[in-house]
Amino acid sequence: MKRFWIPTRVYSGTDSLDQLERYRGKDVWVVCDAFLARSDAITRLTAHLDADRVSLFSDIMPDPPITTVVAGISLLQAIKPQVVIGFGGGSAIDAAKAMVFFGRKLGITIETFIAIPTTSGTGSDVSSASVISDPALGVKYPLFDEGIYPDIALLDPQLTVSVPQSVTANTGMDVLTHAIEAYVSTGASDFSDALAEKAAQLVFHFLPAACRKGDCLPSRERMHNAATLAGMAFSQAGLGMTHAIAHQFGGQLHVAHGLANALLLTEVIRFNSRDNRAAKKYARLSRLCALAPWQSDDRAALQQLLNHIAQMKREIGIAPSLSALSLGSEKIRLARPAMVSAALHDATLATNPRPVADRDIEAIIDA
Ligand code: NAD
Repeated sequence: MKRFWIPTRVYSGTDSLDQLERYRGKDVWVVCDAFLARSDAITRLTAHLDADRVSLFSDIMPDPPITTVVAGISLLQAIKPQVVIGFGGGSAIDAAKAMVFFGRKLGITIETFIAIPTTSGTGSDVSSASVISDPALGVKYPLFDEGIYPDIALLDPQLTVSVPQSVTANTGMDVLTHAIEAYVSTGASDFSDALAEKAAQLVFHFLPAACRKGDCLPSRERMHNAATLAGMAFSQAGLGMTHAIAHQFGGQLHVAHGLANALLLTEVIRFNSRDNRAAKKYARLSRLCALAPWQSDDRAALQQLLNHIAQMKREIGIAPSLSALSLGSEKIRLARPAMVSAALHDATLATNPRPVADRDIEAIIDA
């Protein structure tokens, strides 16, 4: 039996922030990073609320550490807001999700938790995951729980127009990785497939344009929707080996999450395509995204998928593989044993289409 359940109410479009009007008269606590706290975007957001009842927590850093979550929970206990808004990229939304989840567990009444993404990548606005780092241990782990979903997601593409080209490219590749991993996952269903197919089609179509011309609102809007569609897909179907390893590159070496996925994705597709079912699904996705002719055989369609990912990465300025990054092979060599061990225990590995051994992860890291 497969279950499909997304409790988050989603409002999309350039007028979606209007939904905030219903929270006038309430105490609202906004979790964001220092950049967004000073941006025009925060002014747009607070214009829909009672300014004197809004307070900000703007200490979020990329790969949010557990210490920030703990500090946020203490503040939640002191402020006791009725509404919490996670505002920003996946880092801010994930941190807010963990604060609200544990805050509610501690008995704090938070009437409504709203996620407002400002990058088009993680799908955290509709997922049951919160990815938190523990810098002391050098690990980054996803917490999954049905109580983690935001109550409401507001998808305003206008908020993403200011995202720099490199972040647009990295986060866009995160969307594609979510769609592809959810599609071949052992947890996939017709329901999650429909979402993953649409998300992948939108990325192949609109990511290069969103990178070329950041103020192209139609491309931004389709990428913003793609991120949430892919988030819906993976929160139902699960992910796979790309994410299990990418989390370690974030936790140990602070490689941006979307970039880590982008650098690993094609090697993982090659590894997983030795599984017959996965190979057929990659080929089907390739045809559905019009990357290969409908009549092409599975092997040719799979090759086209790999070719198109490589070509899109070139077009949007992403290095072809890990070895092209300036991380330093010595740094990777030193971190490798801990990364391999943590990847094997990462929750996202459970739905990978092929069983994975430590030597398989080593081979992907070394590729
Ligand atoms: P991010 O949140 O770390 O943001 C990246 C950078 O973009 C930051 O410097 C931020 O200030 C900037 N930024 C954000 N919005 C901007 C805007 N509108 N204009 C200009 N700059 C802007 O990056 P991300 O890729 O969105 O999130 C990555 C995090 O999300 C990772 O920790 C990853 O593990 C996690 N993640 C979570 C899930 C989930 O389901 N919970 C899924 C995938 C990834």
